[in-house]
Amino acid sequence: MFTSTHPSLEDIVALAKRRGFVFPTSEIYGGLANSYDYGPLGAELLRNIRNEWWKQFIHKRRDMVGLDSQIMLHPETWVASGHVGSFSDPLVEDKVTAKRYRADHLIEAWLKEQKLESNEVQVENMRIEEMGEFIATKNITSPDGNPVTEPRSFNLLFETAIGSVAGEKSKVYLRGETAQGIFSNFKQILDSTRVQLPFGVGQIGKSFRNEITTGQFVFRTLEFEQAEIEYFFNPAQSDWKELFEDWKKSMWSFVTEILGIQAENLRWRQHTDKERSHYSKDTYDLDYNFSFGWKELWGIAYRTDYDLKQHINHSGKSLEYTDPYTGEKFVPHVIEPAVGVNRMFLMVLSDAYFYDAERQRTVLRLKPNLAPYKVAIFPLVKNKPEIVAKAEEVYQLCAVVAPTVWDDRGNIGKRYLSQDEIGTPACITIDYQTLEDNTVTWRDRDTTEQVRVAISDLAQRIRM
Ligand code: ATP
Repeated sequence: MFTSTHPSLEDIVALAKRRGFVFPTSEIYGGLANSYDYGPLGAELLRNIRNEWWKQFIHKRRDMVGLDSQIMLHPETWVASGHVGSFSDPLVEDKVTAKRYRADHLIEAWLKEQKLESNEVQVENMRIEEMGEFIATKNITSPDGNPVTEPRSFNLLFETAIGSVAGEKSKVYLRGETAQGIFSNFKQILDSTRVQLPFGVGQIGKSFRNEITTGQFVFRTLEFEQAEIEYFFNPAQSDWKELFEDWKKSMWSFVTEILGIQAENLRWRQHTDKERSHYSKDTYDLDYNFSFGWKELWGIAYRTDYDLKQHINHSGKSLEYTDPYTGEKFVPHVIEPAVGVNRMFLMVLSDAYFYDAERQRTVLRLKPNLAPYKVAIFPLVKNKPEIVAKAEEVYQLCAVVAPTVWDDRGNIGKRYLSQDEIGTPACITIDYQTLEDNTVTWRDRDTTEQVRVAISDLAQRIRM
């Protein structure tokens, strides 16, 4: 039915701005690098993604609880987690313009240009010195064609200061991931709830990274939202491989069934031994085929007992679990599925975007559960008070069931096109016939078919 082409990033950015999904942050001041605001429709879409994640992974599972920890934690947290020491990207500077780039990204771009297969040279396996050597021997330059400096480690944590003691300010960090709040609350969660292993803790919240790379829209931003899970278990009782596989299945079905993403645009990628963090036994990325290539959407790692042990060592507190049946005390192991809400947002927009050449329209084929508005209400004309009043009645009836939007501008055909572009699954027109028999025209976004529906059946239809 649809003639579809993979949309370019420009298509997505243009639609997102034109229709109020995503705006450049502080645009009136010239913008702020790698920062975006979510407009009226973007705020709804983000919320829907976030709520679906929470529903599927926290509410529907009896082995999961939620958490909402602070953005600023005790600074020792980030020493224990390893972020202060080694949470960094390899940075190079253009020797002429002083613009900064990630060394690995320059190498990747060069490989692409040379049409070299990525398995011939694996950037993710390179140490920082190896990247420097590679850049030097291949004469890789900046995108402006200038030589670049030797790569150096650039820490991604944002620093700020709190001033609760007069005359002094002490350094704190904006969190680089939400996960550490889960580990540092582990004991309090055990003490305050009735959870038993295996169980998981999930949270959604803002994280901050001083990213150097620009131009990837909301894929990579300074401030972003993460949805992270730490799933704790006893390695003597649960087989980590089974748990790991179960989580991979849950991630896949969330993306394909709940978010409606086409399976052909998804793939698993296992991290190589060199690429994987030293404490991780296994790591996979669930990649999406973005318009700028296959990129990580969602990571899953078996992190053993590394994080809890680090916090035990740095805090001096016991973070052990006591088996309620045997009395055995031990530090649980953990599997971490971690995803960015904004990356899911970009994936959803990219995957739903269709240009329907036959009907000359752009359609966002969003799953109805994600659509910012489930239904649009159109009074056929503006100047007939009876029609407007009836439409208002229908609006109120629908709005209590699902997010509803009102549109009385222009002809009905234009209004349809406008709703198609933002993914509204159905449009309802109130016309002269409505005044006689209490039926409305219901028009379907995907098929464009129109049927007459009784007002009394609308609530039921919208719920579906
Ligand atoms: P990348 O390699 O793309 O920088 P990462 O491996 O550092 O990502 P993680 O630390 O595993 O990412 O974070 C978990 C998830 O958070 C990622 O899978 C991604 O969806 C999201 N994420 C990470 N950094 C950003 C960012 N700067 N902007 C938006 N989302 C991000």
